[in-house]
Amino acid sequence: MIAEVIVDVAAYPIDRPFDYLVPEALESVIEPGTRVKVPFGPRKVLGYVTMLKDESELALGKIKPIDELIDLDPVISSELLELSRWLAVETLSYEIDALQVMLPAAMRAKYEKFIIVEEPERIEDADFKAFLAGRKRIQLKEVDSAELMKMLKKYVSEGIVTVDTAVGQQTAVKKVRMIRMADEVTLQTLLDSSHSNAKKQAELLRWMLEYAGKTISAKQLMEQSGIQPAVLKTVIERGAAFEELAEVYREPDAPQLKDTAIPEILTDEQQIALDHIATSEDNQKAETFLLHGVTGSGKTEVYLRAIKRVLDKGKEAIVLVPEISLTPQMTSRFKERFGSLVAVMHSALSAGEKYDEWRKIKRGEVKVVIGARSAIFAPFENIGIIILDEEHESTYKQDDTPRYHARDVAIKRAEYYNCPVILGSATPSLESYARASKGVYTMLTLTKRPKDQALPTVTVVDMREELKTGNRSMFSLPLAEAVRIRLEKREQIVLFLNKRGFSSFVLCRDCGTVVECPNCDISLTYHRAHEQLKCHYCGHEERVPLVCPECKSEHIRFFGTGTQKAQEEIAKLFPTARVLRMDVDTTRQKGSHERLLRQFSEGQADILLGTQMIAKGLDFPNITLVGVLAADTTLHLADFRAAEKTFQLMTQVSGRAGRHELPGEVFIQTYSPEHYAIELAKAQHYEPFYTMEMAARRQYGYPPFYFVTLVQFTHEDLLKVADFAEKGARYLKQNLSAGTVVIGPTASAISRVNNRYRYQCLIKYKKEPKLTETLQQLIKYYRTDWIKSGLIMTVDVEPASIY
Ligand code: ADP
Ligand code: ZN
Ligand code: ZN
Repeated sequence: MIAEVIVDVAAYPIDRPFDYLVPEALESVIEPGTRVKVPFGPRKVLGYVTMLKDESELALGKIKPIDELIDLDPVISSELLELSRWLAVETLSYEIDALQVMLPAAMRAKYEKFIIVEEPERIEDADFKAFLAGRKRIQLKEVDSAELMKMLKKYVSEGIVTVDTAVGQQTAVKKVRMIRMADEVTLQTLLDSSHSNAKKQAELLRWMLEYAGKTISAKQLMEQSGIQPAVLKTVIERGAAFEELAEVYREPDAPQLKDTAIPEILTDEQQIALDHIATSEDNQKAETFLLHGVTGSGKTEVYLRAIKRVLDKGKEAIVLVPEISLTPQMTSRFKERFGSLVAVMHSALSAGEKYDEWRKIKRGEVKVVIGARSAIFAPFENIGIIILDEEHESTYKQDDTPRYHARDVAIKRAEYYNCPVILGSATPSLESYARASKGVYTMLTLTKRPKDQALPTVTVVDMREELKTGNRSMFSLPLAEAVRIRLEKREQIVLFLNKRGFSSFVLCRDCGTVVECPNCDISLTYHRAHEQLKCHYCGHEERVPLVCPECKSEHIRFFGTGTQKAQEEIAKLFPTARVLRMDVDTTRQKGSHERLLRQFSEGQADILLGTQMIAKGLDFPNITLVGVLAADTTLHLADFRAAEKTFQLMTQVSGRAGRHELPGEVFIQTYSPEHYAIELAKAQHYEPFYTMEMAARRQYGYPPFYFVTLVQFTHEDLLKVADFAEKGARYLKQNLSAGTVVIGPTASAISRVNNRYRYQCLIKYKKEPKLTETLQQLIKYYRTDWIKSGLIMTVDVEPASIY
């Protein structure tokens, strides 16, 4: 028997499976999707069996045998194996990367597997007994005959033997010692026959009588009965209880937010949407829906009901959210509804916790998975629905290899399971809305909030006018006034600061010089705490200069609006206000998002000040005012999606206000009030924005009218990178169809990062049958040759951004 194995050898130029001989001992147990250890050159490497066959093109003598089988059951199902092949082609990545992205990190590591004999008395086969020779823990690779392997597999399925992974304590299966009490009669008999001077024993037996037949962890037992381990040991020896080891899952501690009421009846719009989804699901159609609903219109409620139906049929659901730690309210709603059937793939989980969640899914112990992008690979085998909430978010696109979009993977998996995909958003991506308009997706619309709460009124404040009237503060007069009123009324305020631009840089007021990173062509970000300047791309740090490096002026100081600066200004303007700040600096610790949000929901603060991370998911009844301090930062990104991102962000943030009884008000401060993204965000109408933006995209030939693929080149040497980019562009132009446009090579908008110069080519096409083939060939040149001169080339099909 021959196995085709994809080996874990990063950046090996040849990306294909290699043939290995299956040792006889493994023939009966090896399956596609299991991991193996194989010799590769001088080393032993991890590999994935992708196929089994009878023959190889290689001469038998040349085929090396598999060293060790790591899994007794496939860790990758046949569906996911096929998906990984598709993924590798679509994203032009290595097959090994496409395989490994599907598994929790703990399983990618190289480690030993052990078999652990849990119940030696139940081992019956004499051969197996002889092999064990009384041992309880043996390396899996010692099982070296087909017979032993078959027996092992049987014992594992009966729970007599378990297989454990020694990845170090952190990730190995966690076990606890459990004590199962004997029945009442036995305990009573033992108690009666106890020695009169064995007081402690009698005490324990009496305690146990109350829990006869029950199981409790040894730790708890000792805590609750107040008994020493030695006493416990004695009564166990007398037959009062039995010891067993139980596998437990590390419970990620999830602080609970307040419960939300379950609405009894759906609105007409919600019901219509749900009916469509239900019909499609009943008919086993792989249909993609775009659920376009204004903020607070009850999309989540539709998801919950649709999932309920699916679960009732014994099927499973995957729910994707842009960033799990930012949506504690959403996850707690799912937990409230579906309890322990829900696994939350939280990015802050330890490798061990993630591995536990993965195993729960794999074993079918949970039926709903909520998680960020990578949860799309949840190893379910009977999926009934896949949901992407906030489908327009760019976090759904992975910006490292394999560069996949979770939406595409969702649709692909849904085709396999014949189940619906729901893409939900108040501000759909242009791509999705265009597809829904053309009928590729089915459009479902929620235009109203359930209790008909009005959308908040939005006021755009022209900051140029503020400056003219002499107001140099980051708070315009109207916003400051609105804040004051809310503070008086004890209502809550959300202040949003878009920090994705370079918003707090050091600028010389005399000559205009901005202090930039010496390694990257990017202005350094000012950090007040240590009077430091930091580069967010490469991590470079330096002290704030006292004089301008160019003109030696002393009028060099930071400019713009970081959250710390905003907090200081709030303290000056509203000294009594209680402020919570939520940004990368205050949320580094695990659980800090949830803690801050809980404090705010409990009314422990008046103002929540934060970056992007507060734009999503917040649903608190007392928020009546939202202020956007500077809308301009995203507007000026060097990216064709700048307007779309600004519109989405403004709409999302505005949606935080007035979701319940109290009406909401929004102020957007900007230096470009006439920009259509701002004007239309004010009106909160998606369709007019869509129409305007589509016209612009058509005019400049951008998605969704064209597809784009970005080929980026980086090198320490400017001349070399330009040279390779030129070569690459020439190759693309020569080999792609006449209708395809290759723009470049040009220097990227961020032209240097971490001392590497960046060049790029942008390929625009409507239909390009030769694209994959041409890019694969280009990648081959790169992997076999160019890479040796220090070049890094990346190919990103339908990139999330192009700078
Ligand atoms: P979205 O996901 O569109 O932002 P949600 O599903 O979070 O909206 O709903 C917003 C609020 O309205 C929530 O507090 C939710 O409990 C409530 N809600 C949703 N559907 C209904 C309904 N049919 N009747 C009453 N309240 C509802
Ligand atoms: Zn200067
Ligand atoms: Zn830098």
